[in-house]
Amino acid sequence: MKSLRSQISFNTVTSIAIISALIITLSIYVYEKLYIEFVSTEVNAIGENISVDLIDYINEPAGSFNQTEVLLRLDEYEYAETAYIFNSQGKLLNVYIGQAGLKARAKPNAFESNVDGSQIFKIDTSSKASNALEDVNSITALALGLHHINNKVVMVKTIGEPIYPLGKFILIFNLQEALRDSRERYITLVAPSVVFFICLSLLVSVRAQRKVFRPLNTLIKTMDSVVDDKNYDVKVEETEREETLALSRAFNNMMGNIQAASEANQQKNALLEKQQSQMERLANFDALTGLPNRQFLMKILARELTKARTNRSELGLLFVDIDGFKSINDSFGHDTGDKFLLHISVIMSKLLDEAYTLGRLGGDEFIIIAPDIGDPKTLEDMAAKLVVAVSRTHIFNTLRLDSGVSVGLALASDCNYELSSLITNADVAMYKAKGSGKARFMWFNEEMLADTKRKVLISTRLSSALENDAFYLAYQAKVDAEQNIIGFETLLRWHDDVLGHVSPAEFIPIAEQTDKISLISMWIIKRLEIEAPRLIKSFGSQIIISINLSPQDLNSERLTQFILKGMRENKLPAKNLEIEITETAYMNNFNVANSFFESIKHYGCQLALDDFGTGYSSLSYLTKFDIDTLKIDRSFVNNIGISEQSELITKTIIKMAKSLNFSVCAEGVETREQAAFLLRNGCHALQGFLYSKPTPLEDVLATSRRRAL
Ligand code: C2E
Ligand code: CA
Ligand code: CA
Repeated sequence: MKSLRSQISFNTVTSIAIISALIITLSIYVYEKLYIEFVSTEVNAIGENISVDLIDYINEPAGSFNQTEVLLRLDEYEYAETAYIFNSQGKLLNVYIGQAGLKARAKPNAFESNVDGSQIFKIDTSSKASNALEDVNSITALALGLHHINNKVVMVKTIGEPIYPLGKFILIFNLQEALRDSRERYITLVAPSVVFFICLSLLVSVRAQRKVFRPLNTLIKTMDSVVDDKNYDVKVEETEREETLALSRAFNNMMGNIQAASEANQQKNALLEKQQSQMERLANFDALTGLPNRQFLMKILARELTKARTNRSELGLLFVDIDGFKSINDSFGHDTGDKFLLHISVIMSKLLDEAYTLGRLGGDEFIIIAPDIGDPKTLEDMAAKLVVAVSRTHIFNTLRLDSGVSVGLALASDCNYELSSLITNADVAMYKAKGSGKARFMWFNEEMLADTKRKVLISTRLSSALENDAFYLAYQAKVDAEQNIIGFETLLRWHDDVLGHVSPAEFIPIAEQTDKISLISMWIIKRLEIEAPRLIKSFGSQIIISINLSPQDLNSERLTQFILKGMRENKLPAKNLEIEITETAYMNNFNVANSFFESIKHYGCQLALDDFGTGYSSLSYLTKFDIDTLKIDRSFVNNIGISEQSELITKTIIKMAKSLNFSVCAEGVETREQAAFLLRNGCHALQGFLYSKPTPLEDVLATSRRRAL
């Protein structure tokens, strides 16, 4: 690309060259004109002299010595070309060819050497000479005086007085060569000066340009630096020249505007960045615990899994679920529940290595991503530490809260580094840990998946079972020492079209986990409103019909209110009812269910603690409420006659119950020995296959009728 400076330099040099050429041409022209005028004067003078001198010899014959001698005086004039002497009749008397003429004609045979060596044109009648004479004719036609023809000065003069002319003298000076020589001389003389002048002006122009262009260059450099550094806080110095001053002012104004706009932009960007980071926080972190939320955890896990797969390293996932959180939430309210979650999350965060990511999936579920674990044992150690740290009584908000964590452990390599499988596996293992007694960790294994699939199937089939009335109630008799039927335990039965008969031991925990239990319990209560009166009618008004309630039922306001309403409105025979809840459910829900217990007692309903002895709970709770019956767990009864320890526990429970004025019922009595042992130790009621299996209502009623017969 041509620069402005080189363009200007080119223009300057061209202009100087043209002007110089014009000046030279003009001066040559003027010089030549002056020269010709000067020569003309000289020629005139010479001609004058010669024509005066020729007066004496004009009448001599043509080519006379005297004429020639006079003509030869022209030799001293370098540019004298020819000279002619004519007599008064116009006859050519003598011709002189000078050096200029010889050079022009270059015809040696047309000359004759004169005595002094100069050459005289021979007057000849040959054809060549007649040509010359033709020229001579045109010359003789010229008027008197000086003529300028083709750089030749021709002088025509009369010899003698013009009134009495004796002849005519014509003198021709050829200035061709003179002019050429002088032109050459002139050019050789002037050219170096012109070249020097051009160079000088170029130099001056370059220097001047440099000075003129300096502000422009500064401007360009400044602009370049702005482009490179993005620093708009720059100004250029204002110059004196009008144009560059305007340019630099315009530039400075422009930069000022850009700077202001850029500052405004920066402020906006800073605000946007702040908002974005706030939004990112909101989108990626859990508001309560400040831990990564589900969405963010999934991103982190996906990234870590890709890394682990590429590096062929192992990644572990811990699925953590707080045990009994729902009852804490239900008993003490969501506010306490939230604070408790935060409390547990802080305990867990403190335990964890920096390389691990703890996040909250939602509710009381957390996951820990453990990338790059060399030995799975480290994962196990961490899970054990978590279980120990969390599974204890927390003194919290002036409350004593018993809680724990169940942890499921899974490895990425076991599920081909698939994100959703890894989470499912850890989740399944966590459920297994929960199912196996909570406050523990468990490794995932393939068999667990089959379990889960069945659980999912059961859960979905349970929903349709409720709609299709696929449940029915079975009643298992309880007898006294004399084997009189004193009551029945209501046990739910389910026959599913797809799954066949499913044991409540299997589907009740699933119903509890999937929040379907209270709907099921509601169904049982409604059913009892119909069936209980029939049982009472058959077995007498003293008969006690027990129903099992799950911990979740105690927390379901809808269900407890429904039961109380049934009792209040006498749809449920409260005086013939006993509610069985497990020892742990009783204790964990004591606060929230206390008023419910009081109300049922108010209507005359009894309360029994089921599976007693398995909860390892603080016995001090037993004194807090008016419990009617303790049901010794089947596991102790089964071991009567086998395990001394079980026998001892059984004896102790009976003794303790008696001291607290509770009645004692032993469940799972299958042998006479067990029955004898229990009765011997003072057990009030017995329940088990030895007396009756759980039986549908119609069969129970039929037995009653048979007995009556
Ligand atoms: P549970 O409340 O401890 O019920 C007693 C379980 O022991 C019943 O099992 C009963 O059939 C079984 N059983 C009774 N006598 C014997 C015996 O001599 N030997 C053996 N091996 N077993 C005996 P079932 O009906 O399978 O129920 C299992 C558990 O399911 C129940 O344990 C209870 O926790 C739950 N469940 C059953 N029905 C209901 C219900 O209507 N509501 C609730 N919430 N849970 C229920
Ligand atoms: Ca029971
Ligand atoms: Ca039981």
